[in-house]
Amino acid sequence: MNIHEYQAKALLKGYGVAVPNGRVAFTPREAEDAALALGGAVWVVKSQIHAGGRGAGRFADDPNGKGGVRVVKSVSDVGSSAEQMLAHVLVTKQTGPAGREVKRVYVEEGCAIERELYLGMLIDRSTSRITVMASTEGGMEIEEVAAHTPEKILKVAIDPATGLQPFHARQLAFGLGLTGKQVKSATQFIANAYRAFVELDASIVEINPLVVTQQGDVIALDAKINFDDNALFRHPAIEALRDEAEEDAAELEAAKHGLNYVTLDGNIGCMVNGAGLAMATMDIIKLYGGEPANFLDVGGGATRERVATAFRLILRDPKVEGILVNIFGGIMRCDVIADGVVSAAREVDLRVPLVVRLEGTNVELGKQILRDSGLPILSADHLADAASKVVAAVKDKNHAVAATEAN
Ligand code: GDP
Ligand code: MN
Repeated sequence: MNIHEYQAKALLKGYGVAVPNGRVAFTPREAEDAALALGGAVWVVKSQIHAGGRGAGRFADDPNGKGGVRVVKSVSDVGSSAEQMLAHVLVTKQTGPAGREVKRVYVEEGCAIERELYLGMLIDRSTSRITVMASTEGGMEIEEVAAHTPEKILKVAIDPATGLQPFHARQLAFGLGLTGKQVKSATQFIANAYRAFVELDASIVEINPLVVTQQGDVIALDAKINFDDNALFRHPAIEALRDEAEEDAAELEAAKHGLNYVTLDGNIGCMVNGAGLAMATMDIIKLYGGEPANFLDVGGGATRERVATAFRLILRDPKVEGILVNIFGGIMRCDVIADGVVSAAREVDLRVPLVVRLEGTNVELGKQILRDSGLPILSADHLADAASKVVAAVKDKNHAVAATEAN
């Protein structure tokens, strides 16, 4: 799960991590009030969306205007910046071309930046340890740094038995070229951020940029936290920070029905039981020249209702031009699946080719239900047969449309 920058900063602050003072605002008026309450002469108005690259991003209605993070020097400029952000769509490298509507802004006191650094913590699956990464290349995307100048990323893997030790933090601080007072400020920052990572069951904590101020303080100018969904039950207060407006509507609905669904970019919808089989199905669709529109695992013990819900979810995606249902009936019986598919297909007025491959318990009964339904369902006997049929059906359909348009 993801949260907004201002929420991440509030959580980190609770662990003693240094962050600028700030207030969230939902209207331009609230933004001005926030600036007055904060005091000072320089403020930063920051669009709050669950995507990075806001500073370099542009608003859809003002592509030549300013970005989603603005430094301003008067209360009225705080208000007008908020006005230009709120209810406007911000397009960044991470949002994709559709962008995201800004529904809240964060107003922070400005600070005098001397250096912009990077600090990240994540779970490194190859070492099974939390790895702390730091770089002098702050403000840039760390993926870019990793691709072009990997030597500029310092990494320290932490043994879970000892946790982060003072020497780990000093190693990073010295590696970043910090001196004097900055070293102590940085080591405290790193130790506190690490404690937050562990105690909050985070999967990523990323501070980009981590800045050194002209006063020698080390503070977080940006903050991103991702949480391990499997541990959320231990953190109801974090669960309450969920902003459903920022989440994929289909994925949310799927989660409510206990379905594992991830939206992808292709045009072939898939419904599969079991994550491994779903992966294999996506692979084979690609092998036959198609692109999956989603990953969908209906689980081992799905009911007829769940299958129908899954089917509706797939069809709601306007990108879907064909569907492949690939079910292995072990615990789940093929006739139950067939029933779910048929009732959902009837209900939604199926307008795209549907290929179904069933195997396992009650397979003949399942196939019979599909045949008797009178629906234009293409039955397939094995995985390769299913993939080639659905890819061909989508191609044929597109050719037919092209031909009609040409006439
Ligand atoms: P992102 O573009 O979504 O990663 O948003 P950031 O929070 O990282 O902001 C982008 C950039 O705005 C930062 O890299 C900073 O250079 C600048 N910025 C953010 N906050 C402040 C601030 O308080 N003062 C100043 N002067 N610049 C800031
Ligand atoms: Mn950033």
